[in-house]
Amino acid sequence: MELRISKGPTIYRAKYIFPVTDPPIENAAVLTKEGEILECGPYEQVRKGFLGEEIDLGEVALLPALVNAHAHIELSALKWRLTPSGSFVGWIKNLIRIRQEISAEEYVSSARQALKEAWQNGIGLIGDHGNTGLSVPLLRESPFLAVFFREVIDFKGHTNLKDFLKENLSDPKITMSLAPHAPYTVSPILMQAIKGWTQKYKLPFSLHVAESQEEVEFLRFGRGPIKELLEERGQWPSNFVAPGLSPVHYLDRLNILDEDTICVHLCQATEDELALLAKKRAKPCLCLRSNTFLGVGLPKVEKMLDLGLKPCLGTDSLASNDQLSIFAEMAAVRQFFPKIPAEVILKMATLWGAKALKRNGVGFIGQGARADLLIIPTEKKDPKALLEEIVTKTPAQIGRLYG
Ligand SMILES: [Zn+2]
Repeated sequence: MELRISKGPTIYRAKYIFPVTDPPIENAAVLTKEGEILECGPYEQVRKGFLGEEIDLGEVALLPALVNAHAHIELSALKWRLTPSGSFVGWIKNLIRIRQEISAEEYVSSARQALKEAWQNGIGLIGDHGNTGLSVPLLRESPFLAVFFREVIDFKGHTNLKDFLKENLSDPKITMSLAPHAPYTVSPILMQAIKGWTQKYKLPFSLHVAESQEEVEFLRFGRGPIKELLEERGQWPSNFVAPGLSPVHYLDRLNILDEDTICVHLCQATEDELALLAKKRAKPCLCLRSNTFLGVGLPKVEKMLDLGLKPCLGTDSLASNDQLSIFAEMAAVRQFFPKIPAEVILKMATLWGAKALKRNGVGFIGQGARADLLIIPTEKKDPKALLEEIVTKTPAQIGRLYG
């Protein structure tokens, strides 16, 4: 079921609504106007005094569209082309090699197909990362909201940021930002320059952090497979001195951790590093299926929650995942961390992703929210049982109601 939302004031009635910011509502309704939600609550309350159009969606639940806070749409042509190599750097080397073998047409058609599947999987907002920008026109012609992070890779630090973005070119549909790839592929001064630029325009800032053991070894001692990779790529600065710190402490020393910093992966982050992230109010982004594919280990998600961190979910690219599905990522959280309550997993997949990407009015159902909703048919007798099912496996049918 795919419904375009009416422009005029309209009530949509459903068996259950999951507002995310509040407990689920039974026999519920939303009142929308011009793509925005004016009210959400019990049906009888919402309809009081309302004389406009009413649409009863029947035995369904409404959820906000999901947020994929970390993807690389431009790498979609790499699906099934890479296998776990047993080494993180080995996988990167294979990725660099195979990337050159794919035609420009295939990159575009695969990216378009990936976006189509992401839509069918219930995603409404994407934090997309890319070195080429090929996905930007595809995102513009799609129904998604997006933050596009132009990803910078330059360990020698010679990049002139003016070549990427002269000013903030965001529009209501796509926020344009910059992101350093990782602490081991971007020089410290360049990372600080990117952070300064995103701070100036109040944009989200995102980077891969503490993903592999190789990264930890490199930042601590300046040695190992990452050093060899940088040398091979002609990216080794002869005057480099290893910071001698863990990845998170290194970023803190560079002064780039704050509430607008999205730290992707954090598989190697210690409790001490997570406590520092919580103090800085940084935003973790989990990509558990990618971590499993690459065999880099899993982040301490329960500890993050204990510390008050609000992790969001990402798929990473189809070079390390077989689908761009946040339902599948929720199921991974449930599988690996069964003690985390279902309503917290739903927040990771919606509201916390929208907050990390700094998009207001997204990731919840309530007054002022964008009317971008998922329609999930259900025969469950209570919303709690349904939510348990939603975070455990992808629903058989995912309908959409959007403006
Ligand atoms: Zn990534």
